[in-house]
Amino acid sequence: MPSPSSPPHVAVIGGGPAGLMAAEMLGQSGLAVTVYDQMPSVGRKFLMAGRGGLNLTHSEDFEHFTERYAEARPHLLPLLEAFRPDDLRAWCEGLGQDTFVGSSGRIFPRTFKASPLLRAWLARLGRLGVDFRLRHRWQGWDGEGRLVFTDSAGETVWEKPDAAILALGGASWPRLGSDGTWTPLLAERGIAVSPLRPSNMGFVVSWTDVMRSRFAGEPMKRISLTFQDMTLRGEAVVTRDGIEGGAVYALSGRLRDAIERDGQATLSVDLRPDLTIEALTKRLDAPRKGQSASTFLRKTAGLSPVGIALLREASPALPVQGGDLARLIKAVPLVLTGTKSIDRAISSAGGVPFGEVDEHLMLRRLPGVFVAGEMLDWEAPTGGYLLQATFATGLAAAKGVLAHLKIPDAALTRSLSSATRQP
Ligand SMILES: Cc1cc2nc3c(=O)[nH]c(=O)nc-3n(C[C@H](O)[C@H](O)[C@H](O)COP(=O)(O)OP(=O)(O)OC[C@H]3O[C@@H](n4cnc5c(N)ncnc54)[C@H](O)[C@@H]3O)c2cc1C
Repeated sequence: MPSPSSPPHVAVIGGGPAGLMAAEMLGQSGLAVTVYDQMPSVGRKFLMAGRGGLNLTHSEDFEHFTERYAEARPHLLPLLEAFRPDDLRAWCEGLGQDTFVGSSGRIFPRTFKASPLLRAWLARLGRLGVDFRLRHRWQGWDGEGRLVFTDSAGETVWEKPDAAILALGGASWPRLGSDGTWTPLLAERGIAVSPLRPSNMGFVVSWTDVMRSRFAGEPMKRISLTFQDMTLRGEAVVTRDGIEGGAVYALSGRLRDAIERDGQATLSVDLRPDLTIEALTKRLDAPRKGQSASTFLRKTAGLSPVGIALLREASPALPVQGGDLARLIKAVPLVLTGTKSIDRAISSAGGVPFGEVDEHLMLRRLPGVFVAGEMLDWEAPTGGYLLQATFATGLAAAKGVLAHLKIPDAALTRSLSSATRQP
């Protein structure tokens, strides 16, 4: 334990949003905090998220919001209640980055970027005295329970902090730092880890040459996708070897599980979700007046060239009867034969099961060691749900450290309110 004169020392391993949020709370509470990261700089995946506008969170009502976490909801709910979407907005605005609600209800910083936010955040952490040890790769524990790192010179560095937070991320986009190589390090200590699998990723489709060569990169807009009992409106993009995009990502967990079980999954694509089969049939029963099938479908059913190509993928000889054609347009079967690699997935599923941690996210088998962020076993669709839970778990782990070290709650309250006000 720390001496009465020196504050307790906490090692935060992993400088993504979960680790940085934990470091902020601990620094605000007067603890000595060191953030270790194997990369030369922190927050690389956060910056990558900024390339897509940095969807921080979502404005939908809280009940619906929490349902996005599916089976993990009961575990995450108290943590999300303690750090809600509005708290995240206030925190972001406290760092000088105004936020706004987009037309889809998603919340972004006005700049649509992560870099100004990260810069302001790191400046705040610097003022709090948070120490950064970069190019330090965590290697587990030694026989004396010390944390072991390898630094950039290949030298071994040992640390025995008063508490540690592991915020090592999942395994998507490994070149940004979160490579999932921590899983055996925890398994060696008897901690169950669910395999890391892609989440919010694309799928493989065996397109014909025509589709591949003429339509790769084409978006299919205003469609709806159905799998099992879930239907979603949105957009999907044809790629050379498959399909990706927001609506696909939202179904990706179910599709992935079905492919793992059955070898393939059939997605149903509605190319005109705004029209009923009857209304579409009426249009398609109109005389063709010598138009080619493509022109007729484009003019009467309002289909895009990529939509027509998708119909032909499913049924090279298109139905002649209006009703049959309408039924196909409303439910084009698309067979997915595999998942795209985790290397390009937006997030990963799997990780440390909630059963391995207590309500403060402390590992039951390793008292004093906490887990936060995407390395916990939860998954959620895109829409800001990933970052919201990442921040909330980072904060919860920091609070857990404070409780474990018996740091009074007053410091905790002060820390969050001043954190959201300070520039
Ligand atoms: C392309 C893309 C776009 C995204 N867009 C959004 C979005 O708009 N909205 C949203 O909510 N989410 C988005 N996400 C997801 C979001 O970025 C992640 O969920 C989030 O970064 C997870 O945070 P984390 O702190 O848990 O892990 P990470 O951000 O992955 O950070 C983990 C850190 O741990 C370090 N580390 C790993 N292993 C070691 C080790 N052995 N030793 C030392 N350090 C180690 C890594 O270097 C890394 O810095 C996006 C992700 C991607 C890839």
